[in-house]
Amino acid sequence: MERGYNELRWNPLLGCWVIVSSSRSTRPWRRVERCPFCPGSEETGFGWDVLVLDNRYPALRPDAVTSRAGSGLYRVERAYGYAKVVVETPSHEGDLDTIPRENLVKYLRVLAELTERYCGDPEVAYVFPFRNKGEVIGVSLTHPHSQVYVLPFVPPRVEREYRMMVEHRESTGACLLCSILEQEEREAERLLYSNKYFTAFLPFFAMWPYEVHVYPRSHVESLAELSEGEVEHLADALRVVVAAYNKLFGFSLPYIMAVHQKPCRGYAGFHLHVEFYPVHRAPDKLKYPAGIEWGAWVFTYDGLPEERAAELRSAVQRAVALLEGRGEEVLGRAVEHA
Ligand code: ZN
Ligand code: ZN
Ligand code: FE
Repeated sequence: MERGYNELRWNPLLGCWVIVSSSRSTRPWRRVERCPFCPGSEETGFGWDVLVLDNRYPALRPDAVTSRAGSGLYRVERAYGYAKVVVETPSHEGDLDTIPRENLVKYLRVLAELTERYCGDPEVAYVFPFRNKGEVIGVSLTHPHSQVYVLPFVPPRVEREYRMMVEHRESTGACLLCSILEQEEREAERLLYSNKYFTAFLPFFAMWPYEVHVYPRSHVESLAELSEGEVEHLADALRVVVAAYNKLFGFSLPYIMAVHQKPCRGYAGFHLHVEFYPVHRAPDKLKYPAGIEWGAWVFTYDGLPEERAAELRSAVQRAVALLEGRGEEVLGRAVEHA
């Protein structure tokens, strides 16, 4: 691995860390001649179905070196951690809806194992699995893969979610996500898909046009706590959501997938969930986070979430038919029109 500096710089104005890594600036962007994730490359070898690799240009590393000491307001820490890549299949093309089902189940088990393993390290605060798909999201490699960032701090978004969960518990005695799910199930008009253990819906409070959340239906706090049956049902729900995205406009839809789980220590009561943010608002239009979003952290939503949920619900129905037509067993059911 190429050396450089890997440090955390504290943003005193917003109260959050920025990960600074000097070696990443040389990373190639879409100029790879031979796929590094296909079997038989230097890093991959042969004889695997799901493979965990080190990111070649890690933002965080266990032997991180800082470029300077902190001074005054400007705190500097080592960017201690890991940047892993999880290659989900030996096949060069595909998505979570086309890779073999067993791979998807195994992939989730791998994420759970990484969470458990790295949370055992006292310097690690959070294990963050995420998946970026599509050129418009800047993904330089098309071979299906996810990333896992092992962080020495809890990400602000997770902190914020937890603060809201605590406030809700203090005022009502209930888990916030359990309550959101209850309300979504009661109102029904934004529900998309449900199996025994997981429900997918476009939330009332969506920020991205086709944002989808997948929640465990009973209270589970982290990937590492999922039972075998729950892992299979999470794989099923993710598969249906991604298949629906790819049916929505008739092309393979770019998206960001983020796993929000309980940090390594403390944060009791956190409710695990997966969030998807596709960047399209129409087949030929992207939603650009711009002045109002970046400049003010205020999201504007074009259209009504309920209308977009209806479009996605019809895509889910087509996706379920497609998966069943391929001879696959779908474990849940598309929610009928509300
Ligand atoms: Zn490949
Ligand atoms: Zn809950
Ligand atoms: Fe979340």
